[in-house]
Amino acid sequence: MNVNGISVEVLRKNNKNMHLYVLPPLGKVRVSAPLKIADETIRLFVLTKLGWVKSKIREFENQPRQTIREYVSGESHYFWGNRYLLKVIENAKENGVSAQSGYLVLRLRKGSNSADRKTIFNEWYRKELKQKIPALIALWQKRLGVIANDWQVKNMRTKWGTCNVSKKRVWINLQLAKKPIECLEYIIVHELCHLIQKDHSAAFIALMDKHLPNWRVTQRTLNEFIIDAYDGAFEKSKIAA
Ligand SMILES: [Zn+2]
Repeated sequence: MNVNGISVEVLRKNNKNMHLYVLPPLGKVRVSAPLKIADETIRLFVLTKLGWVKSKIREFENQPRQTIREYVSGESHYFWGNRYLLKVIENAKENGVSAQSGYLVLRLRKGSNSADRKTIFNEWYRKELKQKIPALIALWQKRLGVIANDWQVKNMRTKWGTCNVSKKRVWINLQLAKKPIECLEYIIVHELCHLIQKDHSAAFIALMDKHLPNWRVTQRTLNEFIIDAYDGAFEKSKIAA
């Protein structure tokens, strides 16, 4: 589909809502739309967001390409929204990562390869997230009057968080350790609100507005910080929750 000179890929899905994406690396535009919705409705949807689409495409055009992470000294890595330079110490006694005054220090035992480096890093992110999550879940369960049976941290490609409403299970994206901490809280509140309202209906939005009035600002922050996620390669510029 072509909308005002912009080529738009349309994916039909068994979804209730339409989602618009501007995808790296070059700013390809994609809409996922419910199966039965008319082309004209999709076109209008894109038209109303045209300003946003164009500005995102410009951003991608101006973005210096983020290369695939190799986990070598001097690379930038993010932790709770801050940028750190990586310092690699080889032949260390134990594998591990720590944050020290502007640096993330990656210690490696002898003979570690680059896949190990990534695993060590992700496990560290997981551990840091798991330290922050319980207090936030406890606080918001109390405020919202809901109980989640279980939560897990998972490295996900397309979602910041998910909620299995019937099993009352919340999954949180490992990548949130790279974002400012209010993004983690926002996703936790969002997923717990699904235990009250399954979908993203007006009632759901009203719940978010009531309990976390600032959530739209945080959502924007989350999407602004997107380029770094998943090694910069194929991230969507807007991820659902
Ligand atoms: Zn949701």
